[in-house]
Amino acid sequence: MSTIPITCNNCGAALDIGQGVRFTTCAFCKSRLEIKRTASAVYSEVLESVARQTEHISENVDRLMLQNELERLDREWMMQRKNFMVRGKQGTHRAPGRSGAVAVGLFGVVGGVAWMVFALVIGAGFFACFGLLFIGFAIFMAVYSSRKVKQYEMAQREFDRKRAQLVRRIDESSSA
Ligand SMILES: [Zn+2]
Repeated sequence: MSTIPITCNNCGAALDIGQGVRFTTCAFCKSRLEIKRTASAVYSEVLESVARQTEHISENVDRLMLQNELERLDREWMMQRKNFMVRGKQGTHRAPGRSGAVAVGLFGVVGGVAWMVFALVIGAGFFACFGLLFIGFAIFMAVYSSRKVKQYEMAQREFDRKRAQLVRRIDESSSA
């Protein structure tokens, strides 16, 4: 293939390019060059200065790092979330909810009271104590699981906040 000599419009280095080539990169200063052809001459024009290119590359690297961070955040949240999951009816895992904690407490208290009333009615006063135990246990469980719910909600909020922040930074870096 025959080549034509041109000079880099940025650094003045002598370059050889193929006949039909429209774009090239200067071997010396790495500028992107567009090859212009007129009836009488062939010359190069700088498309993008090296400084500008480096800027672009660092912007891309920034965005890549942010995207990696976002993926890592999502992965970590998935793991963290698993620790909070409670087993649902069909063996499925779901996030803990306030209603679950309340239901546990309510069920326990109502059940315990019913048991005590029943024991007293049939004249088995001693067995009424078990109702008290049951109520105590139910309240403990309700408090325990509502604390879990609160922790989960806090973790979720923290994750949402971090994620929104990252997404905003990625948006900013791609619009820059
Ligand atoms: Zn050059």
